[in-house]
Amino acid sequence: MRLQKYLASCGIASRRKSEELIKTGIVKVNDEVITEMGYVIEPDKDAVKINDKVITPQKTNIYVLLNKPIGYITTTSDQFNRKKVTDLVDISTRIFPVGRLDYNTSGLLLLTNDGELTLKLTHPKYKVEKTYLVKVQGKPTSRKLEMLRNGIPIEDYVTLPAKVEHVKEEKNNCILKIIIREGKNRQVRKMCEAIGHPVMALKRVAIGNIRLEKLPTGKWRYLTEKEIEYLK
Ligand code: URA
Repeated sequence: MRLQKYLASCGIASRRKSEELIKTGIVKVNDEVITEMGYVIEPDKDAVKINDKVITPQKTNIYVLLNKPIGYITTTSDQFNRKKVTDLVDISTRIFPVGRLDYNTSGLLLLTNDGELTLKLTHPKYKVEKTYLVKVQGKPTSRKLEMLRNGIPIEDYVTLPAKVEHVKEEKNNCILKIIIREGKNRQVRKMCEAIGHPVMALKRVAIGNIRLEKLPTGKWRYLTEKEIEYLK
């Protein structure tokens, strides 16, 4: 690759401006000053430096929203060889799920190669609202829903206050909308178990104001610029 093109691909300057930089003699390849225009480098082998700092190509960050079907794992490998969410996103860049959804949970899952954003979103201090539609066995009383709202002991911790709405009743079940700001392992399932109404189906429909809306199950789309800004 021509040196000026390489500099441009590293986000240093436009190709024309990169040519000017090369002429000034501040660009080195393997510690040798290069001022020759059109000098060809091998990006994987040669060390290109400006002011003695190695420069590297800009990595393009990819942000994907997937409507995860049940029956897929969010880890990148498992001992049972089960299907992986990453198999559903047919792009060549390696991306990773942001946090987890259980094998039997469906809905909104973010995937990215932006490690910094993943760290931020999965850090316990990051308290963005996650919205779930939850089908539970039986019909919880309003007192029990209030227990979920106030925070409920689960194993060795008490959940933070949650928003809980009764959406509709079915014959022997009830659909709830539960919004939590944490992401402990199997938290929604454990919360519902704790009030005696086990989860029969669980779907995440939003993370903050990023919504699944009408995206069909198993399909994905790129996040919009606005959504990426919102998460960052
Ligand atoms: N809570 C759960 O119990 N499971 C999930 O997959 C997500 C939230």
